[in-house]
Amino acid sequence: GRDAGARVARRIVALGAAPVRVDGGMAHVGASVGVVTSEGETNVEVLIHRADVAMYAAKANGKGRVHIFETGQLHSDMARASFERQLAAAASNGQLVVHYQPVVSLPGLRCTAVEALVRWQHPQRGLLYPADFIQIAERTGAIRSIGAHVLRRACADAASWRNDHPSAPLAIHVNISALQLDDEHFTDFVLNCLRDFALPANQLVLEVTGTVVTSSPAAIAQLNVLFAQGIVIAIDDFGTGYSALTTLRSLPVQIVKIDRSFVAGCADNAEDLAVIEAVVTMATKLGLQTIAEGVETLDQQELLEKIGVDGVQGYLYLRPTTAENLSTWLSGHHAGLTTIETATAVVTPFRKRPSA
Ligand code: C2E
Ligand code: CA
Ligand code: CA
Repeated sequence: GRDAGARVARRIVALGAAPVRVDGGMAHVGASVGVVTSEGETNVEVLIHRADVAMYAAKANGKGRVHIFETGQLHSDMARASFERQLAAAASNGQLVVHYQPVVSLPGLRCTAVEALVRWQHPQRGLLYPADFIQIAERTGAIRSIGAHVLRRACADAASWRNDHPSAPLAIHVNISALQLDDEHFTDFVLNCLRDFALPANQLVLEVTGTVVTSSPAAIAQLNVLFAQGIVIAIDDFGTGYSALTTLRSLPVQIVKIDRSFVAGCADNAEDLAVIEAVVTMATKLGLQTIAEGVETLDQQELLEKIGVDGVQGYLYLRPTTAENLSTWLSGHHAGLTTIETATAVVTPFRKRPSA
């Protein structure tokens, strides 16, 4: 019955987990097993499908596991497995949409950069936001194809804005998941995107979170190579999660993005304000730029300007929107600046961090 099946499955997983010798090197393979017992059901296709559902559940629980199919789970597991399959194909099926949000300088409120934010036009569920799928994409690995698509699309759109507004070049910010940096071809992929769209390296900003530090040394090595090529690295969501002060020493960071949870409270809450002040003081001493996210009120903007934050981003200026809408917004934005201002509306050259 099912116990015997599970025992065999666990033996298969255990045997598969041992490293094997291949051409003088060691290779690791793993297995995830879904187990189903017939219990009256005799249709082989149905059984194989259920085993497949169980196998997806096993994978979802972590690598190298055994999952036994249960009828009650059929619906949710099937829905999840199919969601994950759709997600894996979302990039190649042309279902990803990239929205953009401006970053404006303080003081002066000139648009100096734009951040790319992905959305998924799901065939049944409508437009989905990152909260609905990015974590799943990071767990299943779909983030690789999603991230590659976003990076390329963002470079293409940045190049077209550059043609439309040659006097005011914009930097393009792209969020990068730690998993993407584990791929040894990532650096080449980034450099090819820049070359294909004739974008200068110092106008591409890769936003990474502190989790990169705890991931592979190879990921950090790639960031160093990208930095050496002139690409700008920003640390995202600073002050939350894993992003500790040590992050700034172990990564070649030039921009610190202050998490919006601090910005949200800064006008009413002395502690949030103190955190922002401390981060800005420290960043400035290290020669880094600061950008505050999630600015929604003028009160917040005034406080941030007083503290000396270099850039702001938030609903107060523009909600993330399509490439087309952003382009329209940019035209109005540039038209609102005087000629002299337009001439100086270039990306400020990033200061190199002092060598350790
Ligand atoms: P993030 O990088 O911190 O992006 C900023 C988020 O704050 C965006 O949410 C943006 O829409 C939202 N936001 C901007 N201004 C305001 C404001 O004034 N108030 C409030 N309440 N929110 C504001 P979004 O687009 O839902 O993205 C959420 C997260 O998903 C991003 O957070 C980022 O971590 C991740 N993400 C988005 N696109 C990508 C991508 O292409 N690749 C990867 N790996 N992650 C992405
Ligand atoms: Ca970001
Ligand atoms: Ca952020």
